[in-house]
Amino acid sequence: MDCIGCDEPIPEARRLAEKGCSRCIECQQIHEGRRARNAR
Ligand SMILES: [Zn+2]
Repeated sequence: MDCIGCDEPIPEARRLAEKGCSRCIECQQIHEGRRARNAR
């Protein structure tokens, strides 16, 4: 499964950690608005 944010494969460890997640770690942080403010 690929990240819906950047189209890159999501690490299996992350998929296992968060079931149903459709974003990679970076995109998830951006989505949650945590600390990825410097992305853009
Ligand atoms: Zn991503």
